[in-house]
Amino acid sequence: MTASQSVEEFVARIVKNLYDLNFNKIDETLEILQRMKKSQKEKHVVNYWKVVQCLGEAAIDMFARLLDNITKTSCSGHMYSNMNQILRLLEHCLSSMAVIRRALAYKEDLLAALFNGIRQNEDEELVMTCFRILYKLLLAGKDYCAAFVKIGILKDCNSHIKCRKGLYGIYPLLTVLYCTKILWVISEFGEQGTKGMIIKSKAYKELCSYVENVHSPVKGTECLVSEMHIIIARIKKCPKERTASGTTRTWVPKVLLYEDIGQKDHAYIFCSSPSCRKQQADGKKILYCGDCRLARYCNEECQKEHWRSDHREKCLKRIRKEKKT
Ligand SMILES: [Zn+2]
Ligand SMILES: [Zn+2]
Repeated sequence: MTASQSVEEFVARIVKNLYDLNFNKIDETLEILQRMKKSQKEKHVVNYWKVVQCLGEAAIDMFARLLDNITKTSCSGHMYSNMNQILRLLEHCLSSMAVIRRALAYKEDLLAALFNGIRQNEDEELVMTCFRILYKLLLAGKDYCAAFVKIGILKDCNSHIKCRKGLYGIYPLLTVLYCTKILWVISEFGEQGTKGMIIKSKAYKELCSYVENVHSPVKGTECLVSEMHIIIARIKKCPKERTASGTTRTWVPKVLLYEDIGQKDHAYIFCSSPSCRKQQADGKKILYCGDCRLARYCNEECQKEHWRSDHREKCLKRIRKEKKT
């Protein structure tokens, strides 16, 4: 993003590159976003979160369409790496529960692409990206735990952990870490009896044996291994003990998401009105669109302005209605 470019212009450019399937440019964008996120300058970091929120609000439907097209039409050897690039960009956008819920309005296309991605062996990075996104989608609610189990996520976790035994590079470790996170979320927040099912599952047994056998992880990846240990300990914890100690089972997807994407200190949330995009202070009461409860505003003026400019067309409530008819 250049100094003279506004966030809206930068996002419009990304959308155009996606539309043109210009993968060189998409690659460039991924690098720029990574640099912005990691920047020492607060200004760049704020712009990063603004860009990804803005892109998520503007283009989720496009991501779903592109993924659907690529899997159906593409037969070139680039299919998986192209899919991976689009998904990596999508992953940046899944930076708030609002955008994740918006993405789930297109769950048929998205889940088809993601499960397709973890059920191929050609592109290891794609497998990892897909597991990371599946974890984020899972945070949207308990219903998805049951749905993922039905699609066969336990079998997928099992086979991926199994074939990574003895491999402790960054990709295998990250893939196994996200399998671990997925197993944990399902065990914790799935319906009654799910925890027992997870502990008895082959995937969980493979996971325990994978972690026990990590001897010399690649330098710099030790933290991934200790994270796995922490999560496995959480899975092991007996649910009865938890109730006895008075801990209630609360679903705090927001906290888990912020942990995952590195927004630990405070949330970066911006007004959804393109002409405003002001950062919302922590703890400040935010106004939501009454129809979708996803678009967020500083005040009624911003809400009205956005409704007039394009939210009338893009409000999720309207999209859901259209999909039903
Ligand atoms: Zn505003
Ligand atoms: Zn709305």
